[in-house]
Amino acid sequence: MVDETPDPPGAAGAAARISGTHFPVTTLGPGRRLGVWFQGCPLACPGCMSRHTWDPAGGRAVGLPELLDEWRAALAAGADGLTVSGGEPLSQPVALSRLLAGAAALRRAAGAGGRPADILVYTGLTEAELAPEPGLREALRHADALISGRYVAAEPTDLVWRGSANQRLRPLTELGRQRYGPHLARTAAGPRVQVAWAPAGGVLLYGVPGRGELSALERRLRAAGVRLRGPSWRQ
Ligand code: SF4
Repeated sequence: MVDETPDPPGAAGAAARISGTHFPVTTLGPGRRLGVWFQGCPLACPGCMSRHTWDPAGGRAVGLPELLDEWRAALAAGADGLTVSGGEPLSQPVALSRLLAGAAALRRAAGAGGRPADILVYTGLTEAELAPEPGLREALRHADALISGRYVAAEPTDLVWRGSANQRLRPLTELGRQRYGPHLARTAAGPRVQVAWAPAGGVLLYGVPGRGELSALERRLRAAGVRLRGPSWRQ
């Protein structure tokens, strides 16, 4: 049954520009999660696999109530958490702040009798860049954990949920420490990319690929008759 908790103040009319959403995502944080990808990233990391999220005018504008409805549905389906990635979520600090505040309020209501769902945010900014920016830190107030730093192709890593060794996973709350503490130095044992069929046709890839994983995946898909015509990491 979907939670009927009203939207938090400020949600009505608020909008974010997003690249997409998906549930369940299993490769960006612990358990089964709702993924929300913000649209727009000015950081332009060489080798980024999400170049389709760079254009701030791309994607689509979505009202916060719509995103919170997806979060309600995910919670009702047993979601372990929300992962916000991009793009660069902190390029839209007001929308991010409102989304996280609304998501935190709803998960508290939904989690009253069950295990709490956590909130994980990815940013390409470093902690040093965030430190002098109170508005950006305020936008992360409801995040339980943060993965920060640019993707650096020359610094591959096997650490779970991180694309390069410089990226830092930091728990921010008690829930974050419980949920992410055991994973800070854990390396990925299996596939780090999840393949899902896109509603409009084709495939979508979710996750942080390990060394050579995208090329191997492309070969397997080709063998299965799926040809990737426009993978965004080749643009
Ligand atoms: S890896 Fe992340 S921070 Fe870097 S360009 Fe891509 S979307 Fe932006």
